[in-house]
Amino acid sequence: MTSERPNLLVPRFAGVASFMRSPVLADPGETDIAILGIPFDGGTTNRPGARHGPRAVRDQSTLMRRLHPVTKRSPFDLCRIGDLGDVAVNPVDVAATLAAITERIAEILAAGAVPLSVGGDHLVSLPILRAVGRDRPVGLVHVDAHSDTWDSFFGSRYTHSTPFRRAVEEGVLDPHRTIQIGIRGSMHAAEDNDWALAQGIRIVTMDELREGGIDRAIAEALRIAGGGPTYLSFDIDALDPAYAPGTGTPEIGGLTSYEAQRLVRGLGPLDLVAADLVEVSPPLDVADLTALTGASLLWEMLCLLADARIRRDARAERS
Ligand code: MN
Ligand code: MN
Repeated sequence: MTSERPNLLVPRFAGVASFMRSPVLADPGETDIAILGIPFDGGTTNRPGARHGPRAVRDQSTLMRRLHPVTKRSPFDLCRIGDLGDVAVNPVDVAATLAAITERIAEILAAGAVPLSVGGDHLVSLPILRAVGRDRPVGLVHVDAHSDTWDSFFGSRYTHSTPFRRAVEEGVLDPHRTIQIGIRGSMHAAEDNDWALAQGIRIVTMDELREGGIDRAIAEALRIAGGGPTYLSFDIDALDPAYAPGTGTPEIGGLTSYEAQRLVRGLGPLDLVAADLVEVSPPLDVADLTALTGASLLWEMLCLLADARIRRDARAERS
């Protein structure tokens, strides 16, 4: 099979690195799925470095090939996929950066494209959701060691520990269609997750996942989020630090790389309208392992988004 893409003409380690070796574009209107970097870690409460995530994930993503090993489909055959570059963040101004992220995601959505973002710390999910959930609150599958539903940290309401609380309060996220998977680790207080539970958010702790197995966690995600447009947010610290050491807030006892792949693949039936991968911190990484793992999960998400996009387009054509 021939391809206009340079896959077989230029070795994958050569050339300027873009996400999945897709064309670097400025106009989201030229894409069906727009992959973009959000190099901001100003919401980080402990070890920083996720601002360097997009570049490292871009580099490792050049290792990805065209066809999914299970479905044998290629997202590049289904959709126009482009690398939209990075959001123009301001590393010393949280409010300005959040506004810039929302504006860029809104542009992508207005152009009819599906945004797939690479952080950055987890605060970036809030301004993304402000655009994605503007017209109606969306459902959420949130894979993470942490619930990220704190009220504030060091007196600030905008940190990587608070995005999903803000998103519920602002009406862009439907807590009854939200599931958090992989939650674990030492707590500040026994009530840490009580706010989320009181809103109706479903929390699948790592213990529950281990006891029930990955397939049951997938079934629960489909049951909770399956009723409408859904956002997928993947914090790389959901994985065990043995597999993903390069992240700011590692928690032992996490997912294996294979479990993470299986979990994402299992979300295929959902109507995914956007997704992000966050908290890859290259300065804390070992042998690019976390960036590679992040890039590999980004590839899985890209395949899901392409399939969901094709289904939506087919539905729109029929009606
Ligand atoms: Mn997080
Ligand atoms: Mn986390």
